[in-house]
Amino acid sequence: MEVSNREFTKTINQFNILDTIRRAGLISRVEIAEKTGQSRAAVTNITARLLNEKVIVEKETKTSSSRGRRRVLLALNPTAAYVVGVKLSAFQVSFAVTNMQADVLSSLIVPVRIGKKSVEFVADLIEEGIRHCVSEALISMRKISGIGIGIPGLVSSKKGITYWSALYRKGNTTLRNLIQQRFNIQTYIENDANTVTLAQQWFGEGKGIDNFLVVTVEHGVGMGIVVNGQIYRGVKGIGAEFGHMVIKPGGAPCRCGKHGCIESYVADYSILGAAIDACKAGKWQYKNRSSLTIEEVTAIAKKGEPALQKIFKRSGEILGLGISGLVQIFNPAKIIIAGEGVRSGALLFEPMQKMVKAQTTPEMYETLQIVIQKWQDTDWARGAASLVLQELYKSPLDRARPAISEN
Ligand SMILES: [Zn+2]
Repeated sequence: MEVSNREFTKTINQFNILDTIRRAGLISRVEIAEKTGQSRAAVTNITARLLNEKVIVEKETKTSSSRGRRRVLLALNPTAAYVVGVKLSAFQVSFAVTNMQADVLSSLIVPVRIGKKSVEFVADLIEEGIRHCVSEALISMRKISGIGIGIPGLVSSKKGITYWSALYRKGNTTLRNLIQQRFNIQTYIENDANTVTLAQQWFGEGKGIDNFLVVTVEHGVGMGIVVNGQIYRGVKGIGAEFGHMVIKPGGAPCRCGKHGCIESYVADYSILGAAIDACKAGKWQYKNRSSLTIEEVTAIAKKGEPALQKIFKRSGEILGLGISGLVQIFNPAKIIIAGEGVRSGALLFEPMQKMVKAQTTPEMYETLQIVIQKWQDTDWARGAASLVLQELYKSPLDRARPAISEN
């Protein structure tokens, strides 16, 4: 019992040190001791082991003040491990191979409609994509420490199962298990908005912030909640479904079967639907409305079409009203807006910001920062990769070791 307690303490101390290095970027041993409250001897001891395992590296810098004296600082070793992130969505599957710092080494986007296909079909597709992407990154499959899969829908990350997802037909084996068996590599599955939240928490705008929210806008509206430094998942372990919070009872029909959900006003498909309806009603002109896309609608609205701007304004206001409700409840330091929906820019987010300001208690609004994230195609897959990375950081010597010793 005593031994296992000691082991446990050692693991926690090691995680704290590693986490301190990750947050700082570059840091001296003395500063680590100050920040973690551990003795200098303990820090020297643990960092020696991490250096030996190649999880961290030493970097020499000259101090600015003194006569060019050298300081030895510690940093994470980005090549300590590699992971793969996979993101499933209705119209495409995207992949990314990243290093330990979530830098994308190679990526792949396969445009495919996987709706209603079998889980085995989806597993085949993922397997092909992973092999291709890893070979593009010029590393061997044996160096991959884990695979993370992000998926829209109700997902229990802990159990590795989906309760509901519109993407594929379930089979006898779960998607997570199929992929894990095929590669014999630890595989994790998580709601896609939560993976983006993890990426923000570990490597992005959420670094060092204990209370923040992420709202993702595109085909659907997703959300991740970080409270006291932890992702909040609720009783069922599936997290937040902000997109299906009813904001107008009896309002527009939603994909989930209810009426008046936030998603039914804010998601890409609902904006596109409203634009087509307005075109049918003669409020604006477009020669081939059946082939209209959300990208075109956005571009035409940006050029100044008032009928379309009105649709974005309404969507933005509804999103703002929803977000104001979140601020009232969570009092977060930051709300990060992510997803392809950020392409709408001021069309959607100006009315959103105005509504948040108008509807939020001033004392709570004062300390709130809203960040509209620049969005890249690979960000979803990078989020899924972060799902694995956080596991590696929690126990680097257990899981990163095989990848490192195979040099
Ligand atoms: Zn809904």
